[in-house]
Amino acid sequence: MEIGNPNKKRIKLMELIMKKYIIGNLKMHLLTIAERERYLDWMEKGMKGKKFNDAEIILCPPYVHLEAFSQRKNKKLKLGAQNLFQELKGSFTGEVSAGMIKAVGCEYVIIGHSERRKYFGETSALANQKIKVALKAGLNPIYCFGETRAERDGGFIKDVITNQILTAVEGISPMNLEKIIFAYEPVWAVGTDVIPKVNEILEVRILWKKILMGKFNAKTIGRTSLLYGGSVKSKWAKEVCIDPEMDGVLVGRESLVPDEFLKIAEIINNNQ
Ligand code: PEP
Repeated sequence: MEIGNPNKKRIKLMELIMKKYIIGNLKMHLLTIAERERYLDWMEKGMKGKKFNDAEIILCPPYVHLEAFSQRKNKKLKLGAQNLFQELKGSFTGEVSAGMIKAVGCEYVIIGHSERRKYFGETSALANQKIKVALKAGLNPIYCFGETRAERDGGFIKDVITNQILTAVEGISPMNLEKIIFAYEPVWAVGTDVIPKVNEILEVRILWKKILMGKFNAKTIGRTSLLYGGSVKSKWAKEVCIDPEMDGVLVGRESLVPDEFLKIAEIINNNQ
């Protein structure tokens, strides 16, 4: 009689129980060492006694704080960078490579954030290069995409998002796709205290899946995460993450307040 491999069954079960991601983008904040230490003390205190069995909590501070954050990270707290350069090394004054951020303890890196697109002219093609160097260095890219208000109102959302996703995954293998965490961040919701409706997020989730289906199989896509980002607050965690069945959130401003950030994490971890 064929009994079946219990390990295989466990792997199948793990595929069904996808981990949620709660990611804090601290942007260009925590201006002094004292501020950084206060923040880390507060975060550590807030995490004491809390269990996040179904969620991965990731903080992305400015480069200069990565090493200090790394010394304080633990099993419950992972580390990511906010950017990297598209070459692995060389004469690129002022830039930081994938290997460098990996060496100081990062497992993740944000790529293609709307602020990088807006203020530094970064494109999805550049994001594709950055995704590739990140993967080469063993980092998990967190790839941000999303439309502007004008693009949505003009009826271009489908074209814009399709282009942002297809360009970013050009030349990416199925095995590597699973390592990318996609974050849908409508530009009009970032930093504005305006959030999309549940069905608007759901529509993008369906679109994201449909776009990837053209290049990858359902099993690979089923193992790939899609988060929501843009004015996430604990009072809206249900609307922007739980109801549209997203795999987590990317949090900007509220990640600067550890109690609020952890409240968001608890709601999502407990699926409340
Ligand atoms: C962000 O910068 O990725 C973000 C989502 O910002 P906020 O939460 O402040 O809108």
